[in-house]
Amino acid sequence: MKTLIKNGLIIPMTGKDDIAAADLAIEDGKISEIKESIEGRFDRIIDASGCFVLPSFVNAHTHLAMELMRNFKDDKENLQDWLSEIWPIEAKLNDKDIYWASKLGCAELIRTGCTTFADMYYHAWETAKACRESGMRGILGIAIVGDGNAARRSFETDAVRTEEAAEGYGNIRIDAAPHAIYTCSSDTYVIAAEWALENNALLNTHLSETQKEVDDCLRETGKRPVMYLDSLGIFDKAKTYLAHGVFFSDEELEILKDKDVSIVHNPSSNAKLASGIAPVAEYKKKELNIALGTDGASSNNNLNMLNEIRLASMLSSVSTRKPSALSCYDVIKMATIDGAKALGLDSRIGTLEKGKEADLIIMNMNNVNTCPVNDPYSAIVFSSDSRNIEYVFSSGRMLLEKGSLTTLDEEEIMRNVSLQWNDILKR
Ligand SMILES: [Zn+2]
Repeated sequence: MKTLIKNGLIIPMTGKDDIAAADLAIEDGKISEIKESIEGRFDRIIDASGCFVLPSFVNAHTHLAMELMRNFKDDKENLQDWLSEIWPIEAKLNDKDIYWASKLGCAELIRTGCTTFADMYYHAWETAKACRESGMRGILGIAIVGDGNAARRSFETDAVRTEEAAEGYGNIRIDAAPHAIYTCSSDTYVIAAEWALENNALLNTHLSETQKEVDDCLRETGKRPVMYLDSLGIFDKAKTYLAHGVFFSDEELEILKDKDVSIVHNPSSNAKLASGIAPVAEYKKKELNIALGTDGASSNNNLNMLNEIRLASMLSSVSTRKPSALSCYDVIKMATIDGAKALGLDSRIGTLEKGKEADLIIMNMNNVNTCPVNDPYSAIVFSSDSRNIEYVFSSGRMLLEKGSLTTLDEEEIMRNVSLQWNDILKR
């Protein structure tokens, strides 16, 4: 299949000044050419006049199946109180719940311009099924809580089942995902890092989400969270990405920089659960790689990366009292190439360049909310919403066409998610 996108404004995210009016050609799932005018025979030609063409978003931290618990028990005082409501529900979830909720997550992500997600959840084989049916790119973290025995069991059973579900589909990778230092033993982290090393996988975990987590870690181990994980050799064994990272000291940031660890910023979740504001402008100044994530829909309460982009920018301005502390370009980078970098996918996706996989979106800016455009980066960060996203491609495959999903049946998905949720409440 050869596709030509004509007359768009190409925003390649290779450099702030690289924006150009040009055509973009897709062949065999990859970007085959970007230049002022491309002629030739194509199976499909899309006129992108008045549209932006940019890399699709990378959601570097989510729990897709938590779509089920959207808007549930939202009135809790803090992360710990909220988790105490969520955990009993999670203990009741079955394969069918996870399958339909993951599909809902995929539909929501595609509609909001995202084609790559890094997940961390249970029954990941069901999320693998949903991901391959959607045509998206999924990094599926095998979620682990508990001690070393629990970790070994998860890798022997859950990881194997998930690998089987993903077999033959090139766009799924399985990562090790110990949940957090307050739910996992030190053994669990070591086993997870060793598994990641042996399986060409990365390690995904929550870290320094709340002040309480830092205080507890200091009291129990005598170390701050990053030093604690570093003392276990985690960062030397496995390439790691950390969700949240709200409370890092300068010394912790030095270690993360030195060990090439990425931080995934989750502004909505951190704001909603009153955890705090991660000082990402400061992290960026220290040249750390910062990605962006939505976290689960039950602490957000949606999976819309455009919302995260906007909020990341606004929270950075309000916390530094400097609107320029994080530029619009920087925030979009976090949601594209820097997210790809965090997940070890930057040689394949995250920018629009010849030879890279055609993971991209077309945003129609001929809309009441984005007229006039003036600055394209500002238009994306501050004015756009999902109505602007008309086409979404993953590895050259069109997942959204003129605002309609091509691989998923939304009505069927919503009906089944409602049925499963009503059933869960009765269990
Ligand atoms: Zn999370």
